[in-house]
Amino acid sequence: MTTLTRQDCIALDQHDKLAPLREQFSLPDGMIYLDGNSLGAQPKAAQQRAQDVIQQEWGTDLIKSWNKAGWFDLPSRLGNLLAPLIGAKENEVVVTDSTSINLFKAIAAALDIQVNNPEHTKRRTIVTERSNFPTDIYMAEGLTRWLDRGYRLHLVDSPEELSTAINQETALVMLTHVNYRSGYLHDMQAITAHAHAQGALCIWDLAHSAGAVEVDLNAAHADFAVGCCYKYLNGGPGAPAFIWVPQRHQAHFNHPLSGWWGHATPFSMAPSFEATKGIRRALCGTQPIVSLAMIECGLAIFAQTSMADIRLKSLALTDLFIALAEGRCGHHPLKLVTPRNQQQRGSQASFTHPHGYAVVQALIERGVVGDYREPEIMRFGFTPLYTRFVDVWDAVEILRDILDQQSYQVDLQRNAVT
Ligand SMILES: *Cc1c(COP(=O)(O)O)cnc(C)c1O
Repeated sequence: MTTLTRQDCIALDQHDKLAPLREQFSLPDGMIYLDGNSLGAQPKAAQQRAQDVIQQEWGTDLIKSWNKAGWFDLPSRLGNLLAPLIGAKENEVVVTDSTSINLFKAIAAALDIQVNNPEHTKRRTIVTERSNFPTDIYMAEGLTRWLDRGYRLHLVDSPEELSTAINQETALVMLTHVNYRSGYLHDMQAITAHAHAQGALCIWDLAHSAGAVEVDLNAAHADFAVGCCYKYLNGGPGAPAFIWVPQRHQAHFNHPLSGWWGHATPFSMAPSFEATKGIRRALCGTQPIVSLAMIECGLAIFAQTSMADIRLKSLALTDLFIALAEGRCGHHPLKLVTPRNQQQRGSQASFTHPHGYAVVQALIERGVVGDYREPEIMRFGFTPLYTRFVDVWDAVEILRDILDQQSYQVDLQRNAVT
């Protein structure tokens, strides 16, 4: 691996069957974008789609577009397009609201189901990781404090602790499948099976999985899932998120955000709520249609390939980045925090460096866009639809140069978004 040359990377790109898909993205010249795990790049088709929504659907057709342009059905239609990427069936996913809000609904519904569990009074813990993305923890905190039924969070500090933490006192396990900082990938099937054996339910957050790794929610027998559309799915900044409720749980999926879009007959304007059957009961209210409409452009690119091919390339890209970074920058205090084991790795590679923030800023200055997460973590996301092997080579060369020259500014004032 260390004997590899830049020319070899170009050859890898020439043989890469995903390579032509890069053409469908609008990427600024001279930028190596390794942050698609935070905000995916723009599908070129989004520009035309935005124009159509703004000019025709909104500007000309106005209110008619709820029917004519299918605005009202959009959460379900997009959900069905997304379903194959996560092992969901038809009518099990809707695209709506944010990941935080969808988590709220899923946690509430899961705890509501557990109330009917004969031993529910003994089940008072919600197990998650201390290193989970904070909003996931905050949403669980907020909801359980408000419910005031004595639930408490059990935060584990390593994946190995999960097997004992998940026990007869567990009401709910809520995990992010791929850790946003380390890129650690959990074994969804094994953890879900263990949770079920203990009588607990399992919510999976797929924010860093959907479009990045192979996911089969139904095969894993998961209970609920949520995830982002603006990361690997390239849906656009702040694009609505998704929520998956399998058919077996839909009839008793009850959550407190019972808005009119989840009503059985929304246009009967009835004075009391009656949940619709099926996945649309996960909806709440009117959606940001302009933003929602963009998501289809990203999903349309996924429809031209398979998650198996994406995963293969993703692992090849992260393997290459790790090998080159360690081979060429190994004399600097860089430490890999992403698992080397492919089975435990998402689609990113994270390294710590004592001046991580400053180094990331220097990289961005030189056109290599990654990001920084506390503590000391430089995070690089690899998006097989538009990242080339030669980009990996060039990114590591620039990193090596910055570290060798120490051309980073240690006492930088931090931006609001790191
Ligand atoms: C990105 C991310 C979120 C974002 O939630 P929003 O409601 O969109 O702000 C939530 N959870 C995880 C695990 C994430 O990675």
